[in-house]
Amino acid sequence: ERVIGGEVSEFDERFEQSLRPQYLAQYIGQQKVKHNLEIFIEAAKMREESLDHVLLYGPPGLGKTTLAAVIANEMAVNVKMTSGPAIERPGDLAAVVSSLEPGDVLFIDEIHRLNRSIEEVLYPAMEDFCLDIVVGKGPTARSVRLDLPPFTLIGATTRAGALSAPLRDRFGVHARLDYYDTESLTDIVVRSSKLFEADIAPQAAVEIARRSRGTPRIANRLLKRVRDFAQVRGNGTITEDMASQALEMLQVDPLGLDHIDHKLMMGMIQRFRGGPVGLDTIAASIGEESTTIEDVYEPYLLQIGFIQRTPRGRIVTPLAYEHFQMEMPE
Ligand code: ADP
Repeated sequence: ERVIGGEVSEFDERFEQSLRPQYLAQYIGQQKVKHNLEIFIEAAKMREESLDHVLLYGPPGLGKTTLAAVIANEMAVNVKMTSGPAIERPGDLAAVVSSLEPGDVLFIDEIHRLNRSIEEVLYPAMEDFCLDIVVGKGPTARSVRLDLPPFTLIGATTRAGALSAPLRDRFGVHARLDYYDTESLTDIVVRSSKLFEADIAPQAAVEIARRSRGTPRIANRLLKRVRDFAQVRGNGTITEDMASQALEMLQVDPLGLDHIDHKLMMGMIQRFRGGPVGLDTIAASIGEESTTIEDVYEPYLLQIGFIQRTPRGRIVTPLAYEHFQMEMPE
């Protein structure tokens, strides 16, 4: 089981649910996004209208799903959650949207994975709050128009670039979530410890935060592992030393890189002399999916300046060679 991987099991899902902030005031970091949303929410409430459609984008685990639920709570409406791959036919979409109450939030995760035929049905739903669906087949098929209550669509995606332009343009609010700084992540670790009723030393929280690659989901997962370690090896209190030992054992390095990051970087350095090398070639050489590398691993390595994208492929930077204490080829 990978601590850093993007996949979320059912067990994780329940664990994460228990740590989710409910309101904007509890949502840590992302000041700019929060500030803008506060104003949009306030204005929509004053006008007694539904909030504009919101597109949230950024790497996995940064709090897109959490923010969607927070927005619904702030608007005092219900939220229905689904995902792009779960909506296979127009009828699936019709089923969810027709169950919405006025002002409700419809959250579609991985919205870039909606197929085109569904997108077409979604456009009038977003613009005019109506659905045109075809009933029947062959010569007796006819189009029926369904009126919908005004609602807010919140779409989440790891890549805004993968969204078709017409869909992207129909969102009034675009919010990009960035990797969190150590300070915000420390606050998240401290907050989660309180919810766990775990005793944690301030320095231990900082240590976990530093190794969480800017991602709340990873911070919470690391905290959970460290807490287990402190319980078994110590008296339950999470000291700085306990945290370091546990993180060492989990093979998460001081920058938050795990063995897959190492494999990826070493592969590029040793097999391809640091690049340029194409994404698919890297993926094949280490036996990972290209999309996993692009969505989960690469964004952080780009962010900390270990990899650069060039028109000819990815290259390893001098900073990375320095971190791994390796000689850069001529
Ligand atoms: P995403 O939808 O972007 O993949 P999630 O919303 O599922 O990410 O967030 C993952 C976990 O991180 C959640 O369990 C939540 O508790 C925590 N989390 C995310 N953002 C924040 C935040 N700003 N403040 C506190 N906890 C957060």
